[in-house]
Parts: sequence; structure tokens; C-alpha cells
Amino acid sequence: MKLKSLEISGFKSFADKTKIEFKPGMTGIVGPNGVGKSNIIEALRWAMGEQSAKGLRGEKMQDVIFGGTDKRNPLNRAEVSVVFDNTDHYLKANWSEIKITRKLYRTGESLYQLNGQDARLRDIIDLFMDTGLGKESFSIISQGRVEEIFNSKPSDRRAIVEEVAGVYKYKQNKERAEKE
Ligand code: ATP
Ligand code: MG
Repeated sequence: MKLKSLEISGFKSFADKTKIEFKPGMTGIVGPNGVGKSNIIEALRWAMGEQSAKGLRGEKMQDVIFGGTDKRNPLNRAEVSVVFDNTDHYLKANWSEIKITRKLYRTGESLYQLNGQDARLRDIIDLFMDTGLGKESFSIISQGRVEEIFNSKPSDRRAIVEEVAGVYKYKQNKERAEKE
């Protein structure tokens, strides 16, 4: 399973549609402070279902929508698509290529698509759960996260271990079943 491309439009500093293709090997993104390097990673996390506005350095989720500059008006919609090569079927789906799209409008209306079909957040979360790519995994470590892990409560740290060990999914399913 490999990250193939990321298409960002109206998300944070990326007002215009920007496509980033990840070629085989390692990719480094470099640039001066404030050019939008972290915004790229946040776009990826957002498309993968990030639910915390604070985790995206905002107050509310609509803060991810391009907010305008001196020269440019704000936009009404943020849209990010991420494409994974899944020829090894590491992600539990039949497709050999998986495209996830997330859109959010200023009105608060939001939507996800999986390979062009409308999907629920739960479908996206299920796709990544127990793959090591889920929300609490170590696959994406942001600035400040290292200290946060070391300083976290034992119960929070336990949740990280459970995600890594692959029991988190069953816990979630159990909680869901108990509610339904
Ligand atoms: P550093 O090297 O300091 O970590 P960086 O390259 O990671 O910098 P980012 O934090 O990704 O930079 O980008 C910050 C820029 O994104 C700021 O200029 C900020 O104004 C802009 N930005 C954030 N949210 C929005 C938004 N909703 N609309 C427009 N611009 C935004
Ligand atoms: Mg940064």
C-alpha cells in the first residue's frame, strides 16, 4: 500500500487546485516557514477522516477552508482527495486503487466519497483501522506530538498501544454494538 497522490483545493493556504504526486522512494517537502508544508500533511489527515479542528490548528472545522488573503477572497469549499495504491490489498477493500475525497462547505455541509461513491465517515475510519494508519497511530507524527505522547495519561497511552496491537477495532465494534 502506497500513498500515490494528494489533490488539495480550497484547503487552508491551497486556494487553487494543487496536485502532489508521490513517486516511489522517499519524498521530502521543503520550504521556508509558513509556505504550507504542515498544511499538506493536515490535508492528508483531513481526507483520512480527522475530526478534531484543534488537531488541525483551528477553532472550528470550517477554519480549514481557504480564508482569503489581501489579494484574494475567501472560498466557500475545501476539497481534498487522496489516492492510495492498494494492489497488495493492505487496506481491506477489493479495489487496487483507493481514492478518498472529503469536502466541506462553509454552511457546515460535508461529504466523503470512496472511489467516487458517497461514503460515511465510518467507512473511512474502518478502512484504516488496525492498519497502523488510524487516527492514533504513529504513521503521522506532527510537530509537538512526541512530547504529547510522553506526557499523556496512562489511559490515553494505553489507547495508542491498543491501536498498534490491533485490538482497538474490536473495542470500537463492541461499544457500537452496545449502543445500537
Ligand atoms: P513551518 O516551517 O513554520 O512549520 P509550514 O510550511 O509548515 O511552516 P504551514 O503551517 O503549513 O506552514 O502554513 C501556514 C500558513 O497557512 C500561514 O500563512 C497561514 O496563514 C496559512 N493558512 C492556514 N489556514 C488558512 C486558511 N484557512 N486560509 C488561508 N490560509 C491559511
Ligand atoms: Mg510546519
